[in-house]
Amino acid sequence: MTNYPGLKMLIAGEWIAEGGAGTMPVNNPATEAKIGDCPMVSSEQLDAAVAAADEAFPKWAATPGAERHKILRRAAELLRERKTDIARIVMLEVGKPNAQALGEIGSAADLIDFLGEEAKRQGGRLVPVRSPNLLQQRVTQEPIGPAALFTPWNFPINLPAKKIAGALAAGCSCILKPAETTPASAQMLVQCFTDAGVPAGVINLVFGDPAKISEHLITAPAMRKISFTGSTAVGKQLGALAAQGLKRFTAELGGHAPVVIGKSADFDRTVAACAATKYRNAGQVCVSPTRFLAARDIYDRFVSEFVARVNDLKVGDPSADDSVTMGPLAHAGRVNAMQELMGALGGSKGEIVTGGSAIEGPGHFFQPTVIANPSANSRLMTEEPFGPVAGIVPYDDIEDAVRIANSLRYGLAAYAFTADLDESHYLGGALRAGMVAINHFAVGSPETPFGGTGDSGFGSESGVEGYLGYTETKLVTVAKS
Ligand code: NAD
Repeated sequence: MTNYPGLKMLIAGEWIAEGGAGTMPVNNPATEAKIGDCPMVSSEQLDAAVAAADEAFPKWAATPGAERHKILRRAAELLRERKTDIARIVMLEVGKPNAQALGEIGSAADLIDFLGEEAKRQGGRLVPVRSPNLLQQRVTQEPIGPAALFTPWNFPINLPAKKIAGALAAGCSCILKPAETTPASAQMLVQCFTDAGVPAGVINLVFGDPAKISEHLITAPAMRKISFTGSTAVGKQLGALAAQGLKRFTAELGGHAPVVIGKSADFDRTVAACAATKYRNAGQVCVSPTRFLAARDIYDRFVSEFVARVNDLKVGDPSADDSVTMGPLAHAGRVNAMQELMGALGGSKGEIVTGGSAIEGPGHFFQPTVIANPSANSRLMTEEPFGPVAGIVPYDDIEDAVRIANSLRYGLAAYAFTADLDESHYLGGALRAGMVAINHFAVGSPETPFGGTGDSGFGSESGVEGYLGYTETKLVTVAKS
């Protein structure tokens, strides 16, 4: 494929095409064709990145917040200016339709703006003193230090953008390790920051073997903050490593979001929103609605209307056909994971109402799938599917719905649709999740915290929390001399 950029890492302000550990291929998931060769970082190059981030940190931390904001604002502008080219690369690397890629880039630019502005707002606070001998008690939020940022492939612009912007706004330097399958998206994003004036060493970009890089960076004494978005299993491993070095850790992990559909909900609007949101990015979204719990009175109608909408989805290669609404899965492993979920449904464990199979290649495609009434202990209803598979079950009363919704260790997003005010208040309090949205699905905005609880991790990104996560609290208390 032409026009795929030559891939380069960024270490100490130098763009480097030679990876000391060789190269790895990058493929288009919609065609399986190779689109590029990605350099893989060596241990010596990682040491150089750590040294660069460490050296650049004190000067960047001392740069006035208003100055940091100006640079971040410029990075957001550059991202908007370059959105057409970047969206094309996102489409090639992830297989997401152009409109979804453009939406992701727009929201990433808004996030960078918001987090950059926090650099001007966060001035700390004065605490009233208890004794007349005390002159002042001042509490400030200090940048933690160099941050290691690990991001997955499903939102290859938005997820790195919110980590980089949080770190840089707060005064931290950083090293980004994006997913193996989406290096060019990360490179184009990082280029916006360097072109905006982020000094050498403040932002570094490395590619390669995820386990080797994460172990190297998390155990490097200079790295003080670790932020990871990805699976619960990997999050637990990285969290354990970070804990050994007593390093601050933010973990945005998997989810298995329930959607409670009450009988009073605006039916047509609800079913349309559920079907559209479930298959966005082929279901590979951590806050994707996956367990649909419909009141028994409306259950049959909900299943049939939901399936009718799913059957209208157009699956294909979005870079070859603009009318495609669902692209491929990210790699062959995701298709295998979907097949395993289907295999684990068992004899009477629900009905495959539509879909259920991989689509013959080339490309990593799986049919948009709906399972009616899967068993509560099936893998589909207990493990994050991270793909285009939805389970729909009936519930009898609202407490029953909450019990099913809260029955897993995940707790990222939870949704409910209802026109009953009492039910809406009850569900907002009773659903156990880091984010609860009622009568809509938009849990991610620049101004609001994004994060989970339980096996979905801890710490929040975006919102003021997305800035504060890269800071630590300091007290300065002064008495009369
Ligand atoms: P995977 O665990 O192989 O990879 C997911 C991501 O984690 C990749 O970007 C990879 O580079 C990274 N990764 C893997 N091992 C790592 C390590 N030791 N150190 C640092 N990074 C590491 O799984 P996959 O099949 O590619 O993705 C599916 C799973 O990933 C899903 O089950 C889902 O839970 C999770 N995921 C979550 C999110 C999210 O937004 N929370 C996003 C993408 C993937």
